[in-house]
Amino acid sequence: MLVKIAPVFYGLYSFCQTYAGGSICGAVKLNHGHCDIAVNWAGGLHHAKKCEASGFCYVNDIVLAILELLKIHERVLYVDIDIHHGDGVEEAFYITDRVMTVSFHKFGDYFPGTGDIRDIGYGKGKYYALNVPLNDGIDDESYHSLFKPIISKVMEVFKPRAVVLQCGADSRSGDRLGCFNLSIKGHAECVRFIRSFHVPLLLLGGGGYTIRNVARCWCYEVLCMYVFYCSRLVFEIRKI
Ligand SMILES: [Zn+2]
Repeated sequence: MLVKIAPVFYGLYSFCQTYAGGSICGAVKLNHGHCDIAVNWAGGLHHAKKCEASGFCYVNDIVLAILELLKIHERVLYVDIDIHHGDGVEEAFYITDRVMTVSFHKFGDYFPGTGDIRDIGYGKGKYYALNVPLNDGIDDESYHSLFKPIISKVMEVFKPRAVVLQCGADSRSGDRLGCFNLSIKGHAECVRFIRSFHVPLLLLGGGGYTIRNVARCWCYEVLCMYVFYCSRLVFEIRKI
């Protein structure tokens, strides 16, 4: 069963080292203030558990990166826009109030089957896990009508010192495994919106099974971040 949902292949160990190392390195750079946006499209493998591979995920680089960020930052927000529930990350931080997890995902007879709206965390972590279960075919407008007010409220109340955004591209329209209807611009708008709060940001990849769409999506999102950075720079220079 394990092999079926997370196949073993040649070079698996170094693959895990590379993508997990990339995410940890991004967190270290953010911690040292060497950048305020770090990107690792090879990361974002949100299904992996502490002792179990799952859903093409072997090592949970996101959990490792968040642990690194917690060395410096008091509170870290995790946001997941992959079509699948970010179960591995939620599970890792389910009983702490230092990490808030927010996942927007397809729910109901769909892998991994978790992410019920009633799952909200436990003990000290109660109310620090937020699940937004969605139906097939959701478009940009409907998605943003949930995403923006929820994230705004989370930012206002939780006040994270760093944000990790899992940008799974299987929530894009036309994905081989996905069933949402987000355009590239709609997907990227989530990234731009998170960035607009000016909190140190670690951008990670994730799912995406129509390869050309994944490449277009993440390329466009890097461009959006670059344009955003340049416009901020011009603004700062004008102030001087
Ligand atoms: Zn996925």
